[in-house]
Amino acid sequence: MPEGHTIHRLAARHAELFAGDKVHTASPQGRFAEGAARLTGNVLDGTEAYGKHLLHHYAGELTLHVHLGLYGKFADGPGEPPPPVGQIRLRLNSDRHWVDLRGPTACELLTPPEVAALRDRLGPDPLRADADPDRAYARIRRSGTPLAALLLDQSVVAGTGLIFVTEALFRAGLPPDRPGRALTPTGWAELWADLVDLMTLAVRRGRIDTVRPAHLPEAMGRPPRVDRHGGEVYVYRRPGAPCHVCGTGISRGDLAGRNLYWCPTCQPG
Ligand SMILES: [Zn+2]
Repeated sequence: MPEGHTIHRLAARHAELFAGDKVHTASPQGRFAEGAARLTGNVLDGTEAYGKHLLHHYAGELTLHVHLGLYGKFADGPGEPPPPVGQIRLRLNSDRHWVDLRGPTACELLTPPEVAALRDRLGPDPLRADADPDRAYARIRRSGTPLAALLLDQSVVAGTGLIFVTEALFRAGLPPDRPGRALTPTGWAELWADLVDLMTLAVRRGRIDTVRPAHLPEAMGRPPRVDRHGGEVYVYRRPGAPCHVCGTGISRGDLAGRNLYWCPTCQPG
């Protein structure tokens, strides 16, 4: 599933392409036909990302909400849109550009109270200037739940997925199963600041890189990472491989059906 940086990049991209323009919308597949009919002809005022949720705000208090989920994808291009191919839930275009959305978990219109309700059920997003990390810590410090599970819970922190969470815990030297209540206020302040840094870098690069300069391939004389996800990381999907810091084999464990990765030496229990 795309992590928050991808959604923030899409929000910026869509604003760049369409903000201030009247857009035409359609649902070639039909599943968003009613929404597209209400949306078409409206001017896009602006976009924003909140965690993994993308919002387009149109004139007249009309908001389009998209959650990509596991399979959702956007494509875009200049000029006239090509003939529709496959299951296009939403096609949106101006005179200059088009985007197609396929396979989202959510593609719907929201009223202002529904937008407020969506925000209320999400924790602070490290990529947003208005994020309040104290809100997340108020949940974390009272909880016996493992830190990894808390940080993956979008109602605690929004936008973080498995890569950011496992990597930030490694960089903090915290084992993923440490209960939330064992995290000190200073520990949380550092962890939050690191999430802000890592996610901001990922927005800039369009991929997740978490490795400090001393542990980059060039610095260590090791081959670069080869993976669908691309970036240089410490533990994510490196089970059994030597830790870039201490050489210990990276561990893998299960958390509610999801794989977790950590270094047993750098993140002692
Ligand atoms: Zn290590």
